[in-house]
Amino acid sequence: MRLLLVEDELDLARLLRQNLEKAGYTVDVAHDGVEAEYLGNEGIYELAILDLGLPLRNGLDVLKNWRLKHNTLPVLVLTARDAWYEKVDGFKAGADDYLGKPFHTEELLARISALLHRTHQHSGGRLQVGDLRLDEDRQQVITTMGQVHELTGVEFKLLRFFLHHPGQVLSKSTLMEQLYDFDSDKDSNIIEVYVNHLRQKLGKHRIETRRGQGYVFKDLTP
Ligand code: CA
Repeated sequence: MRLLLVEDELDLARLLRQNLEKAGYTVDVAHDGVEAEYLGNEGIYELAILDLGLPLRNGLDVLKNWRLKHNTLPVLVLTARDAWYEKVDGFKAGADDYLGKPFHTEELLARISALLHRTHQHSGGRLQVGDLRLDEDRQQVITTMGQVHELTGVEFKLLRFFLHHPGQVLSKSTLMEQLYDFDSDKDSNIIEVYVNHLRQKLGKHRIETRRGQGYVFKDLTP
């Protein structure tokens, strides 16, 4: 899952990025409102974390402009603590959630996870498809039979994206976009390698190859 982090305080942005990456997200950072608005319209992000006080264009205008263009990107706004009117303005502009600064990283991660689950209609705080459940804190996958499979960082990222989009044809380039930020070296063969790792762990029928199109993660509920 690739996130857009919009924060102009460099130290905070660096720290948040580290923590988000540790939690298995791919992250790009924008430090001003103009860049943020442009990136948010690229259609590659699953969610944006948007600070409101930004240089060049304030966060509320960025959000309003996205919504004017019918951009439905889920947005969590970062507001000043106790500034209730910022929260109200944020929701009116089309925010999906908010968090008052300063905050604990754990709360940010929990809100991101909840918002992603809500967007993709996973209820009950769990990411489950058929007999597979992903433990997003431990980065493990658990079957209903109680088998636990450890996942590497890339396997976890890939599986989380698959579980949020079961039954959909996902092209290699879509999967690449979710695994790598703009600063990474990219090798599209890597997708095949990691799909095969997941097949070895979870059974080969779970991920179907559609020649020339991509992959489909299947819900193998009996
Ligand atoms: Ca700011």
